[in-house]
Amino acid sequence: MSRGQDIEALSPVAMTSIVTTDLIGVTRGRSFPSDELEHYRLGGCGWVPANSALTPQDLIAEDNPWGAYGDLRLIPDLDSRVSVGAGPDPFAPPLEFIHADIRETDGQPWAACPRTLLRNELEAYQALGIQVIAAFEHEFNLDTGGEQAEHLAFSLQAQRQGASFGGWLLAALRAAGVEPEMFLPEYGKHQYEVTCRPTQGLAAADRAVNVREITREIARQLGQRVSFAPKTAENAVCNGVHLHLSLQDLEGTPLLYDPQAVSGDDLSRLGQHWAAGVLKHLPALCAFTAPTPISYARLQPHHWSASYACLGLRNREASLRICPTVTIGGKPEAPQYNLEFRALDATASPHLAMAVVLMAGRLGIEQQLALNAVTDKVPDELSAEQRRASGIVPLPGNLPQALDCLRENRELRQLLPQALLDTYFAVKQKEVSLTEHLNAAQLCEHYGHLY
Ligand code: GLU
Ligand code: MG
Repeated sequence: MSRGQDIEALSPVAMTSIVTTDLIGVTRGRSFPSDELEHYRLGGCGWVPANSALTPQDLIAEDNPWGAYGDLRLIPDLDSRVSVGAGPDPFAPPLEFIHADIRETDGQPWAACPRTLLRNELEAYQALGIQVIAAFEHEFNLDTGGEQAEHLAFSLQAQRQGASFGGWLLAALRAAGVEPEMFLPEYGKHQYEVTCRPTQGLAAADRAVNVREITREIARQLGQRVSFAPKTAENAVCNGVHLHLSLQDLEGTPLLYDPQAVSGDDLSRLGQHWAAGVLKHLPALCAFTAPTPISYARLQPHHWSASYACLGLRNREASLRICPTVTIGGKPEAPQYNLEFRALDATASPHLAMAVVLMAGRLGIEQQLALNAVTDKVPDELSAEQRRASGIVPLPGNLPQALDCLRENRELRQLLPQALLDTYFAVKQKEVSLTEHLNAAQLCEHYGHLY
């Protein structure tokens, strides 16, 4: 008998990652053996402040507040734990991660943590007696490899091309507690969309990250490629992220819907103030919600995305849309009623984007802003005079313009921690300088690979 037979064979150690999704929407973290969770539960794992200054090009923006100094902790939020067992590749290790808040080593919240920013903003709503319910819809391109058959928009044929991917995706999202609803072929070539049920505040933004990471994981296991980038080729249909939001009081009564509302679109007075706040600050919000140079290839008229700051009833050219409610079978309208923020894409951090949209809406509520900028028309087809009369302003045409809008928006800036703002401006300026030599096609290609 050889000695080797007495020695137990190795089996790989299952790992859990503690993760933060950073200012540019990239999920990063550190991993430990899953059976040692207890050891990391309270104190988390180490993290480095300057990691927050990474550009999508994977270079740290030198002009950040941290440099080589400082130490932080990623503190796992166990309620947010995601576990996905064996998928299409039975040899792939299980996917397990826990969202974290970034804290100082003494446990104090860290000013530039996007998840903490959203948590604090939700507390500000809570103080107003409001809870926030949200869902993110994601569109993406799926490259199944090899010769691709014709993809007809919304067709059963396109659904069948993506069906193997979609089936695994829905299974994994279910296992992760994401509550997926639909997997559907979209208008673009090899473009699909995945939607999930709305959920409470912070969990909604975590869920957006889970959708992106699990979609990438299934692609990896199937040897396929996905891209969530807003535009992946010059002739491609754009990929958007649509953020559906509704407000409830602390007992769960919907607050946006009022069938008696004079405006005729059933938007309550509170909802009107909220929407007015979002529209007022929208050009500056774009710095966070449409945060890369390629985002502006999508924010164009006739793209069913958003190119002007306006509210529209069931209007897909409006940046803020009142979504349809369904009354078939006597379904109540109030719980369905929600507003959809469309000037958003997957190069944004879900936590940061949701936080700033909520801040703008809260300013609207607190200042009781009057709602203008409402149209049931395509805003680009109105005359400049009509737009001026309704207070409909164009959104920034590129990232530097959006950053200028943010710089000029003192009200919004005052709600954001200085360290977060300084880091963000440093990152985005560096990103602009790293990409300004790229032409339109190269920009699509570049971001198509990064996101
Ligand atoms: N693809 C569009 C976008 O970029 C959205 C189309 C739709 O309404 O589903 O946002
Ligand atoms: Mg869609």
